[in-house]
Amino acid sequence: MAEKRSSHAYMLLAPEGPERDGSARRLAAELVCTGPEPPCGQCRDCRKALAGTHPDVTVIAREAGTKGLRQDIVVGQIRAMTADAQLAPNEAARKVYIIDQADRMNQQAQNALLKALEDPPGHACFILCAASADALLPTVRSRCVRTGGGVRQERAGELSDLARGYLEAAASGDLAQTVLFCMNRGKLSREDTEAFAGEVRDAVCDILCGRLKDPGLGRETLLRLDGLMDRALDCLRHNVQPKQIFGLLAAETLRVDEI
Ligand SMILES: [Zn+2]
Repeated sequence: MAEKRSSHAYMLLAPEGPERDGSARRLAAELVCTGPEPPCGQCRDCRKALAGTHPDVTVIAREAGTKGLRQDIVVGQIRAMTADAQLAPNEAARKVYIIDQADRMNQQAQNALLKALEDPPGHACFILCAASADALLPTVRSRCVRTGGGVRQERAGELSDLARGYLEAAASGDLAQTVLFCMNRGKLSREDTEAFAGEVRDAVCDILCGRLKDPGLGRETLLRLDGLMDRALDCLRHNVQPKQIFGLLAAETLRVDEI
């Protein structure tokens, strides 16, 4: 069950938004990809899944009612989904169902989903997107493989952009900008925070080796930031929360004597 590709149910835990939608689509692409290294992003299945036009990738979301979106994902939607999941895929080897706002499934809907998770049709995969697992039944949770930020490669790209943003903020010497940058990242998952710190260290190394342009930090500051990331990673290993890690970075990225 731990093996990603062999599971039929994933729980994608991330704040709601385009980033999470992108991660869900990317994971769906990985599941239908026919390329050598899924998700290859090049094969027909990947391209369709990423564009949201793959006939075997279905998104389940709250339906529109008379006053905007309904409060919950209701049992009828889940039953329709599981009925559809019994049918053979159209083009891919799998049928993928992305349940957006899975935490909005009411109790009945979750019970209906549970049945599908307990006895899934061989070709069906479910991706439950939620901000947190708290609203999901423990029985539902336990049948899903957790995938924090979606597929690793995509996150790596985003997180290396974030790392560069961090170094640019540090190079600006602008305390307010730097603090704001760090404070805005406090909601990153543990896994992403760890990857972020790793990306900063990689970028620092690249700058020191001349592979990347120095945004104006200088060797001494670069070495200090490298040490700071080391501390951040150490704190993470000791279960310090990401929010506190970014608090540390907000406080320590700029040295008063360097501003
Ligand atoms: Zn592909």
